[in-house]
Amino acid sequence: MSCTLLQAAHEDDRVFEMADYQGAVARWCPGCGDHSVLTAAQRLMADEQLRPETTVFVSGIGCSSRFPHYMKTYGFHGVHGRALPVATGLKLTRPDLDVFVVMGDGDCVSIGASHWVHAIRYNVDMVALLLDNQIYGLTKKQTSPTTPQGYKSNTQPHGTYLVPMNPMEVTLGVTNASFVAQTAEFVPAHLFATLKAAHRHKGFAFVRILQRCPHFTPDLFSDAVKKPDLVEILTHPEGIHAEGIDGIYKNQIRHDPADIHAARELAEDSSKVRLGLFFRDESRARYDEIRSVPKRTAREKIELLNEDFDRYAV
Ligand code: SF4
Ligand code: MG
Repeated sequence: MSCTLLQAAHEDDRVFEMADYQGAVARWCPGCGDHSVLTAAQRLMADEQLRPETTVFVSGIGCSSRFPHYMKTYGFHGVHGRALPVATGLKLTRPDLDVFVVMGDGDCVSIGASHWVHAIRYNVDMVALLLDNQIYGLTKKQTSPTTPQGYKSNTQPHGTYLVPMNPMEVTLGVTNASFVAQTAEFVPAHLFATLKAAHRHKGFAFVRILQRCPHFTPDLFSDAVKKPDLVEILTHPEGIHAEGIDGIYKNQIRHDPADIHAARELAEDSSKVRLGLFFRDESRARYDEIRSVPKRTAREKIELLNEDFDRYAV
């Protein structure tokens, strides 16, 4: 057997543990919800046996955007608000990769909002995580588009002026949305089950993760953490099944994730912390299927380039 074949056989036999996905030591504040999301992502990788060399985490700028440094996979820590176009280009040219996007609320809902809307519509097969702590953490407690009205920040010290944007409502309102879920890092079993469902979805899986920032906004989710009855879980045979939470989270309602009108109504009512799969439709058009880039060798690419140069040469 040649060296290459031996290597391939060896690679096929590999079994990955969570530790195989652990990168640098995470430098988020103690108690930051980002730690919980990182653990859930590494657990997902091991559970699904994703190969580190074909898994990519793409991020923008913000506390949560340090995520790729803490994964022992490929990663791209890019420019503020631009994680989605980078990830889209990557997936179109390398459809064999598992692509995950990690964004904060400033990154996705503010500066990256135009990319966010079109990424939903393009429905390229990837997982997009919005780690929503409802504040700009990295730049020290500035109002973000999801900061609750009246909440005092360093940029609006008398209280945030505007009604916050609701990322679930926006996502569900965009044409061609195909997977829209909400979870919370403080319900780890639900977070893990949601990441798994999102990864298995064929299309753009948008997951809003309610995330605690104990450093700047320690009070934002404290009620929901202390009183599980304030959290409402969406249940359905086609929905998300989180193991072992029924005894604690007894406030559950049935919601059919095929019903987009009911999903929009549930999303509109932001008075409740509601976790579950709001909507899924795998039949929606995917840009990566419609415009798949054929695999070409380096020589073929050069020949195509030369043809183009010849066409425009004077
Ligand atoms: Fe986490 Fe907030 Fe600290 Fe940023 S500032 S690392 S979001 S706790
Ligand atoms: Mg934030």
